Amino acid sequence: MKVLVINCGSSSLKYQLIDMENESVIAKGLCERIGIDGSMLTHQPVNKDKYVVEKDMPSHKEAIELVMSALTDAEHGVIKDTSEINAIGHRVLHGGMKFTQSIVVNEQVKEVIRECFDLGPLHNPANLMGIEACEAAMPGTPNVAVFDTTFGMSMPEKAYMYAIPHEYFEKYSIRRYGFHGTSHMFVSGETIKFAELDPENAKVIVCHLGNGASISASIGGKCVDTSMGLTPLEGLIMGTRSGDVDPAVVQFICNKENLTVNEVLNILNKKSGVLGMSGGVSSDFRDIEAAKEAGNHLAKVAMDAYIYRVVKYIGAYTAAMNGVDAIAFTAGLGENDKKTRKEICECLSYLGVKIDDEANDIRGQKRIISAADSKVKVVLLPTNEELAIARETVALV
Ligand code: ADP
Repeated sequence: MKVLVINCGSSSLKYQLIDMENESVIAKGLCERIGIDGSMLTHQPVNKDKYVVEKDMPSHKEAIELVMSALTDAEHGVIKDTSEINAIGHRVLHGGMKFTQSIVVNEQVKEVIRECFDLGPLHNPANLMGIEACEAAMPGTPNVAVFDTTFGMSMPEKAYMYAIPHEYFEKYSIRRYGFHGTSHMFVSGETIKFAELDPENAKVIVCHLGNGASISASIGGKCVDTSMGLTPLEGLIMGTRSGDVDPAVVQFICNKENLTVNEVLNILNKKSGVLGMSGGVSSDFRDIEAAKEAGNHLAKVAMDAYIYRVVKYIGAYTAAMNGVDAIAFTAGLGENDKKTRKEICECLSYLGVKIDDEANDIRGQKRIISAADSKVKVVLLPTNEELAIARETVALV
């Protein structure tokens, strides 16, 4: 069975064609600058050369058509005909409270994705365009929507309700949703298998540390709390997002700088995090670490604060679950930065966490990186959101 996984952004479209017999990638690629001048497709078949097509893509419809011709191209393609694609799995950002799991797309599902435009204004419209483009290009092939928010749907009310007047939850469904759900679901599930934990009761904390960063607590693979909220702004310090701040900061900056709420929110999303804290060094953690090594004080404060926030959340989630069996690191920084993993783990000695320096000397590979006598297993577990989406798709079709 071959599954095409599609992840649409407002001006981009990433895809992977996966052979689910052995869960291997057959081809992957990216359409960039959709709806903007200079759009192009980069197609990378496995075991063949990269293929780049520069062609106008006014919308996601043309992008999908170009992906289909690349996949079936006589020279650069990997399938003879699109009928070889058995199903399409779509990453959809926001499913609101309607969907507690992935679902085969029909008119009603599309309507709910539309209703959630308010909650995911940048992503949901693009996700829906991607689905509709696939429906037009491959009529009869099932499309499955895999929501970033469904993992968080198992949280109890005490974890997802904000302490604001209840009418706002009733009127607008304002609550904690959590994001990176597909990643947290995949990594927590794989950690349970890999570390041979109790599938029903294992308490796992997943640290998804990329440019966007979030952390989740789950019991038996079911989310009980997660750090992102109504939007991805809440929680950890990120590349450019502030994470948790006193909401009064927004009002204060608005008044002092004569800015609107939207403008300040834009600053909190795009100009804050380690980029903002370091006085503009970079949103890339490699640059922050290099600046810190070179003696830049603000870069050091940004990195220290970043680690401190992760450590605080691990403490809070351990308390929330009354224990923790495993802590998993994933995403760009989590998979590649042994120093940050070690520094985080060194703050967790009160939990009996002991890192094994030799085991931790690794990048991007599944491995237990804690010492044999560590009370909590620490695991490096590379995330694979595309495979998680493909698995969900297979399960439903
Ligand atoms: P996203 O999907 O949110 O864009 P990724 O999961 O791809 O993010 O992670 C990208 C981030 O990972 C980059 O900002 C970079 O700082 C960080 N990163 C990658 N490799 C390293 C490394 N060796 N050391 C520190 N940070 C790294």
